[in-house]
Amino acid sequence: MLLPFQFERTIANDFLLTNDAGDFIYLGPDEFEQFLSSGLDKDSQTYVNLKTKHFLLDSPKYLAQTIDLLATKYRSKKGYLRDFTCLHMVVLTLRCNHNCNYCQASSQDAKASNWDMDKETARRVVDMIFECPSPSIKIEFQGGEPLLNFPVIVEIVEYAKKVNRRLNKDVSFVLCTNLSLMTKDILAFLKKHNIEVSTSLDGPKELHDANRILRNGGSSYEIFVKNLELTRFVLGKDSVSALLTITNTNIGHLREIIDEYIRLGFKNIFLRSLNPYGYAKKKTGEKLQYRIDEYIAAYKDALQYIIELNIQGQHFSESFTTMLLTRILTPFATGFVDLQSPAGAGILGVIYDHDGGIYPSDEGRMLAAMGDSHFCLGNVHDKTYRHIFLNPKLKKIISASCVEIIPGCHSCVYQPYCGADPIRAYSQQKDKNYIGHMPTSEFCQKHKAILSHLFGLIRESDDEVLDVFWSWITKRPYEEIGLSWRQ
Ligand code: SF4
Ligand code: SF4
Repeated sequence: MLLPFQFERTIANDFLLTNDAGDFIYLGPDEFEQFLSSGLDKDSQTYVNLKTKHFLLDSPKYLAQTIDLLATKYRSKKGYLRDFTCLHMVVLTLRCNHNCNYCQASSQDAKASNWDMDKETARRVVDMIFECPSPSIKIEFQGGEPLLNFPVIVEIVEYAKKVNRRLNKDVSFVLCTNLSLMTKDILAFLKKHNIEVSTSLDGPKELHDANRILRNGGSSYEIFVKNLELTRFVLGKDSVSALLTITNTNIGHLREIIDEYIRLGFKNIFLRSLNPYGYAKKKTGEKLQYRIDEYIAAYKDALQYIIELNIQGQHFSESFTTMLLTRILTPFATGFVDLQSPAGAGILGVIYDHDGGIYPSDEGRMLAAMGDSHFCLGNVHDKTYRHIFLNPKLKKIISASCVEIIPGCHSCVYQPYCGADPIRAYSQQKDKNYIGHMPTSEFCQKHKAILSHLFGLIRESDDEVLDVFWSWITKRPYEEIGLSWRQ
């Protein structure tokens, strides 16, 4: 008896099968025919593998217990949904001393007024955050440049800790900063409160400065490097993570950029494609854009380079790939907000704007900055937690973003590892139902190509590449991985 599955014929003319619990198996064309017609020899290894991975059953009498088992696996994979919103992003100011050419944060001049969150709003944001049922709360400070409003960071951290004395949740903080305003006093505060630092590095000086420009027109690279050293000196050598925004300026230089990350002591990189949402696109026009196939080619080449570096003994990973490999190769949930089913917008992460406005994602906030407040869920000053999080719009976002039922996704072989982006469907494909048309969406083209590439690597690569992948998933040295499973 067959159980539900999705499948795709591969370039090598065999078949990849996946099920909703995230198990996968490859079958040759004959095996696939025999599987479909229930003609497989029950003593064959293929039959046993299919049974172990829940693609078939010996008899319907095992159906109920198998469904229970699959449900347990499915619940584990969707474990991030259990606790509701854990990531709370707080925009402390729209002001910034940089004027990056891709900035999607609608940043304002560093000396402008009326773009900062005030302390009263900050306290209301914290009160709202702690109404969330999640036992783990991560508060991420964003901007503009949040250090331009450092007193409100202090206010939020101290007030959150005070509120949490009563609730005893697992609270952590992340500061997203361009590092340019970092000082010893600020670092002392970050160290005292165990606040992580996340930043952006776009490559060696020439490439970094081409994208990340100071408002006064000067280079941002030297100050970045100087303050990176200072931050690591105070907080520890692995205290800063960084991401790269890929633009048309640097898409042809990813190997150089990876070398620069390694030279500066980073252990990983997050390759982020340009955000297609309003403000960035309006500001830059087509100037920084590239075609999706160019991005895929650049991603594949960068990944190949990173794998080679690891095999040569340089431990270095790519964060997005590691997240997808974890989904493919382990039974564990990955709480990655931007690629979930249902979408993480509002239920995994939520964003509070400087004026207290609440949005399910930064993209919803960006649309509002462009004049379309469609995704505004309310404001901390006049709405309750229940009003915000039981908002019919948020329910609609969630119900429209389950890939298990989206046309085109429901039968896709990569569906168990993929997700939806309802806000992109609204903004790019003008779908007021937030579903969009997957076959023509760049979102789908990108994720299908990347997942297909990773499955190809898993299927065709030798042990060395799989060792690299497992070292990223388990965060252990590459040399240890090979020893542990080949012996
Ligand atoms: S540092 Fe960040 S907020 Fe400031 S302009 Fe650059 S991308 Fe925008
Ligand atoms: S977005 Fe594309 S790759 Fe992802 S599940 Fe849907 S059809 Fe498949």
